Amino acid sequence: VFITLEGGDGSGKTTQAELLEEWLAGRGRTVVRTREPGGTDVGVEVREIVLHHRGDIAPRAEALLYAADRAHHVATVVRPALERGDIVIQDRYIDSSVAYQGAGRVLDPEEVRFVSEWATEGLLPDLTILLDLDADAARARLDRARTRYDRLEAEASEFHDRVRTAYLELAAAEPGRFLVVDAALPADDIAAAIRGRVAGLV
Ligand code: C5P
Ligand code: MG
Repeated sequence: VFITLEGGDGSGKTTQAELLEEWLAGRGRTVVRTREPGGTDVGVEVREIVLHHRGDIAPRAEALLYAADRAHHVATVVRPALERGDIVIQDRYIDSSVAYQGAGRVLDPEEVRFVSEWATEGLLPDLTILLDLDADAARARLDRARTRYDRLEAEASEFHDRVRTAYLELAAAEPGRFLVVDAALPADDIAAAIRGRVAGLV
């Protein structure tokens, strides 16, 4: 079973991934918790470029870097885990690229999706949890948590508004795959909503 978490920076994806992993592990399931970008050794190097390179990266180059990270991650970590029968809980996947490199930047979201689907040989999640949070609330959380911002976190709130809108459109287009949760709720309430949906899958 392949579960992805999506949402803006500061929406609480990592916390919820950890809580879900604990719950599934407590029920005796083998879980692989991973993330993009940066879920492999190659990915760690790509992550350093996309998040901390000094200076601009051409939008198509940026999109291909995320796709390269994803291709290697799916081939060497995610597919092998799914083939073993493990549950994969992953922080960010194709929807991040469609929302960030597509709607957030200047690229055509459908072209961005095509590149990612080529990179992953069409591997799609069974469930995608969207932690929805407005850009101002997300910014306030990051301001409390960060000593420095990465290139994307530092973008203006208009950028993050476009990303949020794109995510909600993706969820509306595929209601069967998505669970949308209000990320302003207490973490325990969010975790309970997620467990309710995951219980039907595993
Ligand atoms: O979620 P995490 O903090 O690991 O993501 C790293 C950064 O990369 C975030 O600032 C996110 O906005 C950005 N990102 C992106 N496009 C992707 C994946 C992540 O812009 N496809
Ligand atoms: Mg982040």
